[in-house]
Amino acid sequence: MVNRVDVIVVGGGASGLMTAGLCAQQGLSTLLMERNERLGKKLLITGKGRCNVTNNCEMERLIESVPSGGRFLFSAFSRFSPQDVMAFFEELGVPLKTERGARVFPQSDKAGDIVSALERFVKQGGCCVETGRVHNLVWEDGTLGGVQTEDGRTWSCRAVVVCTGGKSYPRTGSTGDGYALAKQAGHTVTALSPSLVPLVTKDDWCAGAQGLSLKNVALAVTDTVQKKQVYSDFGEMLFTHYGMSGPMVLSASAHMRPMSAGRYEVAVDLKPALSMEQLDARVQRDFLKYQNRDLNNSLGDLLPRSIIPVIIEKSCVPGHRKINQITREERRSLCCTIKHLTATVQGFRPIEEAIVTSGGVSLKEVSPKTMESKLVKGLYFAGEVLDLDAYTGGFNLQIAFSTAYAAAQAIREVLLP
Ligand SMILES: Cc1cc2nc3c(=O)[nH]c(=O)nc-3n(C[C@H](O)[C@H](O)[C@H](O)COP(=O)(O)OP(=O)(O)OC[C@H]3O[C@@H](n4cnc5c(N)ncnc54)[C@H](O)[C@@H]3O)c2cc1C
Repeated sequence: MVNRVDVIVVGGGASGLMTAGLCAQQGLSTLLMERNERLGKKLLITGKGRCNVTNNCEMERLIESVPSGGRFLFSAFSRFSPQDVMAFFEELGVPLKTERGARVFPQSDKAGDIVSALERFVKQGGCCVETGRVHNLVWEDGTLGGVQTEDGRTWSCRAVVVCTGGKSYPRTGSTGDGYALAKQAGHTVTALSPSLVPLVTKDDWCAGAQGLSLKNVALAVTDTVQKKQVYSDFGEMLFTHYGMSGPMVLSASAHMRPMSAGRYEVAVDLKPALSMEQLDARVQRDFLKYQNRDLNNSLGDLLPRSIIPVIIEKSCVPGHRKINQITREERRSLCCTIKHLTATVQGFRPIEEAIVTSGGVSLKEVSPKTMESKLVKGLYFAGEVLDLDAYTGGFNLQIAFSTAYAAAQAIREVLLP
């Protein structure tokens, strides 16, 4: 077992694997400490098991995709860009492909290929990997001298890089330990909140449609305090017992800042491809076909079964009314509801269910060029432990890789001048 090394990297996720591999490749004796038996557990579930490893876009789009802290990343993104990340994985033998929205995935659609490549990279450089949960920073005469695991083992080193991730999906090992380590070093940890997270709605109609998954619908979010639309998109969503989830809803949640109960209204357009007039004409055709039925039993050609009672109730047309007795205004009201089905957001689901954690180690106390602590020499941070989070599209992994690269470069410059 190695007890004294140049660098200890705490956490073997996206940022930790990259940092450890780069440090080792540069000739630094490196120890990677991971609490799980397996490396990269969260990486394996990214992109629904396909791993959206980066976004093949330019700097402006990258910065815009990080709602808080985008400017902080300018230097790190410039030195290790999405195109660099792509070249890195291709060189490690993982062919990539770019999909809609410039999202980059392994051609194999297997996140495991990304993890295996990073594991190979770490091992090629001769990095040691230990299983253990780092619990404390170790101090020698007031300076940072190493780390200690919760079972009392200690290692000494010249630099520590905290790559412990956020607090989301804790079963992957990311339980927020890095925040406690940062606080031991005197760092401020800004308020933590979930981002890219399902939404709890006030209206119980969502529960009525639970289990219903919709494709090709449009969603718009309005901030009722600022009276402006903060998000709109077209895609997939899902109704649940508490409210809404699915890719489009997760993306929308990152635009709901600050969150407070009742502030945001979500409007779903169930038929975005049809104008009001086209939808009305379509409903009229169905009504002609089912003119002897009641309303409850005449919308099945147009809408999924579980949403029909919701639409009827929200449009205030009695469901037992015979089709041939429905007025033009009532038909209009049905069409309006189909194109503008609204729910008020009560809040987010818990941070544990979020794709990323918003908040973290304060950026004011970390150098944007080196990721080194401004408070403690030899202490570095990379990845989601920092107060950084981005929209969906591969940006969060890009943050992990770029900050890892900045830290590894800086450590090499300090330790191998
Ligand atoms: C379901 C899901 C899907 C996602 N999909 C995508 C996607 O497709 N594209 C994208 O860009 N982003 C995606 N993300 C976000 C992305 O996975 C994270 O932002 C990224 O993994 C953060 O990297 P990290 O290295 O900072 O932390 P993590 O990857 O969380 O790694 C932290 C590691 O540190 C270890 N650790 C924690 N505490 C300790 C300790 N005390 N001692 C030792 N080890 C410790 C953990 O076990 C873990 O292995 C997804 C997230 C989730 C949950």
